[in-house]
Amino acid sequence: MLGAALVVGISRAAPPGADVDGGAIAHADARPGEWLSHGRTYSEQRFSPLTQINTSNVKDLGVAWEYRTYSVRGLEATPIVANGTMFITLPWSKVIALDAKSGRELWTYDPHVPGAMGRYACCDVVNRGVAIWRGALFVGTLDGRLIKLDAATGKPFWTVDTIENKNHAYTITGAPRVVDGLVVIGNGGAEYDARGYVTAYDATSGKLAWRFYVVPGDPSKPQENPALSAALKTWDTGGKYKFWTIGGGGAPWNSMAFDPALDLLYFGTGNGNPWNRDIRSPKGGDNLYLSSVLAIHAKTGQLAWYYQTTPGDTWDFDSTADVVLADLNIGGQLRHVLMHAPKNGFFYVLDRATGKLISAQKFGIVTWAKGIDPKTGKPIENPDARYSSKMAVVYPQTVGAHNWQPMSFDPQTGLVYIPAMDGSAIFIAEKNFRYRPKAWNLGVDFAGLSQVVLDLIKKGTPPPPAVGYIKAWNPVSQKEAWQVPMGGSWNSGLLSTAGGLVFGGDAYGMFNAYEAKTGAKIWSIDLKTGILAPAMSYMVGGQQYVALLAGWGGAGGLAAFRDPKTALSKYQTNQGRLFVFKLGGRKQVAALSPEGVPPSEPPPETADATTIQKGFLLYHHTCLVCHGFFAQSEGEVPDLRLVPTDIWGQYGNIVLDGALADGGMASFRDILSKDDVTAIRAYVLQQAHLAWAGQHKPPGPKH
Ligand code: CA
Repeated sequence: MLGAALVVGISRAAPPGADVDGGAIAHADARPGEWLSHGRTYSEQRFSPLTQINTSNVKDLGVAWEYRTYSVRGLEATPIVANGTMFITLPWSKVIALDAKSGRELWTYDPHVPGAMGRYACCDVVNRGVAIWRGALFVGTLDGRLIKLDAATGKPFWTVDTIENKNHAYTITGAPRVVDGLVVIGNGGAEYDARGYVTAYDATSGKLAWRFYVVPGDPSKPQENPALSAALKTWDTGGKYKFWTIGGGGAPWNSMAFDPALDLLYFGTGNGNPWNRDIRSPKGGDNLYLSSVLAIHAKTGQLAWYYQTTPGDTWDFDSTADVVLADLNIGGQLRHVLMHAPKNGFFYVLDRATGKLISAQKFGIVTWAKGIDPKTGKPIENPDARYSSKMAVVYPQTVGAHNWQPMSFDPQTGLVYIPAMDGSAIFIAEKNFRYRPKAWNLGVDFAGLSQVVLDLIKKGTPPPPAVGYIKAWNPVSQKEAWQVPMGGSWNSGLLSTAGGLVFGGDAYGMFNAYEAKTGAKIWSIDLKTGILAPAMSYMVGGQQYVALLAGWGGAGGLAAFRDPKTALSKYQTNQGRLFVFKLGGRKQVAALSPEGVPPSEPPPETADATTIQKGFLLYHHTCLVCHGFFAQSEGEVPDLRLVPTDIWGQYGNIVLDGALADGGMASFRDILSKDDVTAIRAYVLQQAHLAWAGQHKPPGPKH
């Protein structure tokens, strides 16, 4: 008796995930009821082997339980489930542990990220999840810390600061991975002034093991490794603005995959900084290793190979969408491949041992390149796509044909399911670029292109809105198998299961199941808040569950363009929730309580036309990214026209003194003067009066 009690006592004391290590993740299929790594396996296929929920019974799927996150920003995390415990992350890098069966909260951890960091997060204060390893969790925080937590209690074991240069704007939003006993994390910031890098720390001690920089540093000094010395030759070091002082970019902020047999870690790298290559490398060049997939020897951090998807990127074509590993039969041969569908609109199949191109085809509307040369592996560029001397209109849009929302590979159908988008972007080069530390440094004239959009709207020919799909793609034939339209364009990541199902949600809050073979929609539920995060599936006590975080936001949701023709407003201010579904689940999805302050009449306008025009330019140069074109936002960040009356008297306190910094609205005193703020207020006030009078009815692009 005593012995049995002791055994029970010991097993209870073991923290969740105590038995999860690299071997367990490498053999994740032996534990199909758990979800031990970001994409379930090191290959990041996001395919669940569970079959209890399948095409014949999915009609009986319903909500088993839900957990309110009390968040209003984007939810992007994939839940991790080990030993019956679920771990999720929320905006501002908070971590929650839940009983995976009942939804009971076990503990919460708040790293207390300063609200002023909101200004340095290009694409929302999101977090995409934790890594679990030997009873511990790893989370990267928005302000760049990597924290190891006790999975049983949420108490920190250690914290390392991954940011080496605090004078530049860096963030972490991605999920760490643990490979070879090393916890690996990248960073974001290539819209600001970051020099991207990936760092590996000893998962036990937190000691730095290696760091791989994506772009070269100061050419007057030795580069950190031979790969960077080689990369330096692809950059022009003679320009007016030195890329190494502005950062250069390449931030590897999202994707990672790992092949234990090759001991290669794969990650995708971000866009150049500034976006406009003419500024960071005036004589051109490929600018390695921007917009690339890199294979790194996991133990040493040395580069094994690279494949650059957008040489000389000038369009914000991050290659940070997920990297998925699979073994495919191509031309009668079993090939060990890597699949990647980055923003630039091409679906790539590479040999993952060598990085050699096997095939690449457009999976959406692409105008910047005609195709990929099969011999060189390089794009055949459309000469009209670069905007050195003239405006360019380019497909895909800057949020891409596919962004971070993960795709899913189903080995049963052989298809890859992609949350794809079709949309265009306008580029005008910024004539008088001036580097602003820790601010957006793009080299693109946002005020100018906003004027172009405004003129098109006035002419009655607004740019076509972006649209979203789920595309089922055959990676062997490089052809579409099926596609279904989704609500909005900025939709959720995807999950496929051995039950023959694909799960995906949309900006309108609809969460759907599709037959994996055909795309037929066979189940749907209205979750009443927009969805971005991918679903995952697990099993506890013989019951299969599907779990999903619902809460819209991210790059496409910070400041969604207000379109009176759609009913988006109902859902796009979100109330974050985790939904967990099972067969026979009966819980009703509660209606959202009414939100939002009704427009109050704005104070009188006193500014002259010159001040308002100055405000228009400054607003679109500085504020647009979060608050939207023309000061209109239907996203999660306040629509500045619809604020309570007292806000109009507090512009100085808010914009210069940082009165609302705790909420994410930092001080901009370093780049805006008092007169600038007066002008911005005058422009926003003008827009508020137009809104109040009901005269301004913009159609237009979803940003
Ligand atoms: Ca970017």
